[in-house]
Amino acid sequence: MLLQELTDLNAHGARDIATLAKTWEPILDRFPGWFWATDANYRLTYLSDNIGRITKTSREDLIGLYILDADYGDVRTEAGIAEYYDLLLKQEAFYNVCYERNLVEGKRIVFMDSGVPIFDADGRFAGYHGISLHVSHATEQAGATSSLVFALKNRADALEEELSRRNAELEAKNELLIEVLEAMGEGLMVTSGADLYDPNVVVEIVNPAYRKLFGLGPKDVQIGTSIPDLVGRLIRNGDVPNDPAKIDKMVKDMQAERPIVMDLGTQKKTTSVASSKRKDGGLILVHTDVTNLRSQNVKLEKALHTAEVATAAKSNFLATMSHEIRTPMNGIVGMADLLAETALSAEQNAYVETIRSSAQALTNLITDILDFSKIEADRLKLDIAPFVVRDFISEISGLVSGLARAKGLEFVVEIDRNVPQAVTGDSFRVRQILLNLLGNAVKFSLKGQVGLSVQTSAEQGGLTFCVTDTGIGIPDDMLEHIFTPFEQVEGGLRRGFEGSGLGLAITRDLVQAMEGDIRVTSQTDVGSTFTVELTLPEVALDRAIKHTAAPMDTVRLEGLRVLVAEDNKTNQLVVRRMLERAGVEITTANNGIEACALFAAQQFDLVLMDVSMPKMSGLEAAQAIRTQEAQQGLAPCPIVALTGNAFDKDRASAFEAGMDDFLAKPVRLRQLLECLSRNISTAEGKDPGAVKHARS
Ligand code: ADP
Repeated sequence: MLLQELTDLNAHGARDIATLAKTWEPILDRFPGWFWATDANYRLTYLSDNIGRITKTSREDLIGLYILDADYGDVRTEAGIAEYYDLLLKQEAFYNVCYERNLVEGKRIVFMDSGVPIFDADGRFAGYHGISLHVSHATEQAGATSSLVFALKNRADALEEELSRRNAELEAKNELLIEVLEAMGEGLMVTSGADLYDPNVVVEIVNPAYRKLFGLGPKDVQIGTSIPDLVGRLIRNGDVPNDPAKIDKMVKDMQAERPIVMDLGTQKKTTSVASSKRKDGGLILVHTDVTNLRSQNVKLEKALHTAEVATAAKSNFLATMSHEIRTPMNGIVGMADLLAETALSAEQNAYVETIRSSAQALTNLITDILDFSKIEADRLKLDIAPFVVRDFISEISGLVSGLARAKGLEFVVEIDRNVPQAVTGDSFRVRQILLNLLGNAVKFSLKGQVGLSVQTSAEQGGLTFCVTDTGIGIPDDMLEHIFTPFEQVEGGLRRGFEGSGLGLAITRDLVQAMEGDIRVTSQTDVGSTFTVELTLPEVALDRAIKHTAAPMDTVRLEGLRVLVAEDNKTNQLVVRRMLERAGVEITTANNGIEACALFAAQQFDLVLMDVSMPKMSGLEAAQAIRTQEAQQGLAPCPIVALTGNAFDKDRASAFEAGMDDFLAKPVRLRQLLECLSRNISTAEGKDPGAVKHARS
């Protein structure tokens, strides 16, 4: 009530409050408080008498003082006073605000103040009217409670301050986060749960990039949008397939954090979605627009396909060329071999030799080209087996020494005594490497010597082969180019050396296929040294010997009955002439069908089968013969493929069709006879009655 009256005094000034105080004086005598009033500058304009009683300060000393400076004389410290002053400065009404003052002698007094601002007729602040109540006795009863209240209040204030500081920080961070989400190029969608069919699972975060990707507006997808509703909209839009099985798979992939790719039909876009599970069970889905990447991939795939088609065409071309060249070469080589066996004049002999060596060069070239394309197409397979090093080197020496001798060169072989007796590796390919290098050493040397040395490498299980010559040498600037296909050093003395420029390219590739190393040092007009290091681990000698083919028994071929299936008349003639000279009885078939018919009607000891033939291929004919034998319970008759198709795959398909051996055209007389002997002796060895049985 008193406060109400105080409020009503608004704008009436100090005098009126004095009147009011007078009215209340009888009560105030016993009332532990006083009235006070200030002007607009917070100077005390009125204090009721009992201030002197309560604070032992006379009001005359206080009137006119700035309220915040009035120290009531004996009062020194304050608790809650700062807040009280803050309230005053706000020029707003306040009620029952407590603050504490400590008297000099140590007594603590607590005041409870209420105040109302007063305003003049123009609404300007004119000062305060207020009452201060001395409530120490009340709080004393409560003992520590009051200080606790202050302490708590202070603590609460501090906490409130900390809270608002943290809130401000959090808000700043939130703003930053929102900025990032809005700026990021990836579409972001965070869901409240992982069960995307549950209508209670909603969007928790979505950014503009997500909406852009799916062509959606802010209202179509926002925080709180139910996920099944959103999926429904995407299905209607045509950006999610209307196929429950596909959707199910997509959802399962997302739940399992598997990346998925989505084609957004209406947007003509492709997005890849990376999903991760949130700790509380929701999903974070990041959509990246991979439309450009996809179209680049499509282009690359097309380019790859074109390249594959081109490679396949190249392989086919090579296979066809190889076949087409090898077939007539068989005629040339075979006929030249036969011609050489007849009585010829010296001049005629020289011509025949030229035909033979030219044919050999051409055959080598075809083999090199096939080898090179095989390595290039990564189809080279190594055939690893144990072999005896000294036997291997002496076989190579046998081949090279003749060539060297013919050119008046010395050929020197050195094998270090540390070199193991037997090693394991692809001896066929090592032979090819060394023959290429030795062939060049002989070819490019006009005098002096060619050498081959073998030592153990510093590396465990390695052998180092050195091929040296005293030839024309290689200029420094060409040393790194000679391993490039078709690259040859030109000019000067070099004119007139035959070669394709493929030998060293193949050699280097073979060395690399065996994970070895090849180096060259050379000096023009002094000579060259090619060093090859290969890993060829040592093996027990007996294993290598077992593996090395036993020397072939020469089987007498006289009276042997051979069926030759061959469509090319020249080649029929070549084989007939070659074999008839060894006393072999020949029957010829012009195609597979004829071959099968003859095989069914007559007994043969061996079949020589061309592969590409009209009407029925050699492969089909071999299969038919094997079936026939099985049905009649006959022992298998040896079938040898004699073909211009000289790829590994041709060899493999010949064996698959049931053939026993493989000869590539052009075939040399010796090769053919050896092959026949080998197969006849194997057939006899396999089952002593086999050949007889087939003949009977
Ligand atoms: P080519 O069939 O021409 O011999 P290679 O690839 O074997 O092809 O060799 C490439 C070139 O490197 C040769 O043409 C030759 O110029 C040079 N070359 C290779 N070996 C020797 C060598 N031992 N001495 C001199 N030159 C060599």
